Amino acid sequence: MQQFTPISDLGEFGLIQRIGELLGKTRNPLLKGIGDDAAVYPIADSRVQVVTSDMLIENVHFDRMFHPLRYLGFKAISVNASDVCAMNALPQYATISLGVPHNMSVEMVEHLYQGVAQACALYGIDLIGGDTTASRQLVIAVTAIGEAEASQIAYRSGARPDDLVCVTGDVGAAYAGLRILLEEKKRFEAAKGEGHAPDLNAFDYVIQRSLSPTARLDMVRNWRENQIVPSAAIDISDGLASEINHLCGQSNVGALLQMAKVPIEILTREVAEQFGEDPETFALYGGDDYELLFTVTPEEAILLDETLFTVIGTITHPEEGLHLELQDGSTMPIASNGFRHF
Ligand code: ADP
Ligand code: MG
Repeated sequence: MQQFTPISDLGEFGLIQRIGELLGKTRNPLLKGIGDDAAVYPIADSRVQVVTSDMLIENVHFDRMFHPLRYLGFKAISVNASDVCAMNALPQYATISLGVPHNMSVEMVEHLYQGVAQACALYGIDLIGGDTTASRQLVIAVTAIGEAEASQIAYRSGARPDDLVCVTGDVGAAYAGLRILLEEKKRFEAAKGEGHAPDLNAFDYVIQRSLSPTARLDMVRNWRENQIVPSAAIDISDGLASEINHLCGQSNVGALLQMAKVPIEILTREVAEQFGEDPETFALYGGDDYELLFTVTPEEAILLDETLFTVIGTITHPEEGLHLELQDGSTMPIASNGFRHF
């Protein structure tokens, strides 16, 4: 009988590994295939291109009830630009493949593309093609291409003991925004659409972080202005805890992070407390932040624009493992449970 192994037995990353094994050896020049934020291959002399794909699916990644289409278009480009930035490459081109449900109008598709165009202008991306098909639910699959010097590429695997662990912006805000939106949706449905429109102005920042995140091209520009190549970099899509595990795993190093240094906005804290939960949990496991987690030497860190990032810890030797120092001085291992699709 044909075997049926549930995908949850392997998990997302186990499944991807199985796919990689099945495909075997590559046939063309390649610097990095499966396993980083983007694939990297040489194009000419010392230049390389990076390619990444990320899709957004209705009711998995977004809820059309509270996600304005313009923001969704912006987000679809941002999440891909973010993976290009995580390689220290500059995004240049993108394609979009759309699955469009019957309940979407021409005007709605136009709104989606207004957001796409806005993001493309912000990141310097040209949209050069895609595909359009009917679908039960809205699907937005983007492929982004970027370019860099081979020597500029920051892989996940280059972190070395004594490097500083840095994170741009703040973390946990997107998850806080999502919680507010889900709560409001629940209230709206309980009131059967009656009652007052909610006043969400006070939550603007976290809601915007969830609905229309911005890729950190500003950090990439700052690395380049200072001729610094991070020893390792990854973008935070599944949560800080999950991404530091990927980075340290692929670099074969440990790390000691300080919880007190992890940047969490006041509003994120307030939202977590409103739900009776720890802001730290939001910051470590929330996901969807699209900030950059990277490592540089202490000498390099002082040259960078300090308004763009925070030092949250140090890379250690592999046998020291991956630990988080809490406010009371105790330490705990950092488990990698980010968002699980399966
Ligand atoms: P990210 O979170 O940075 O977008 P993912 O966790 O989605 O990265 O993917 C990890 C790696 O696995 C990437 O190199 C990606 O290209 C690869 N990958 C993901 N899904 C597939 C698939 N279905 N087939 C081949 N490679 C895949
Ligand atoms: Mg990534």
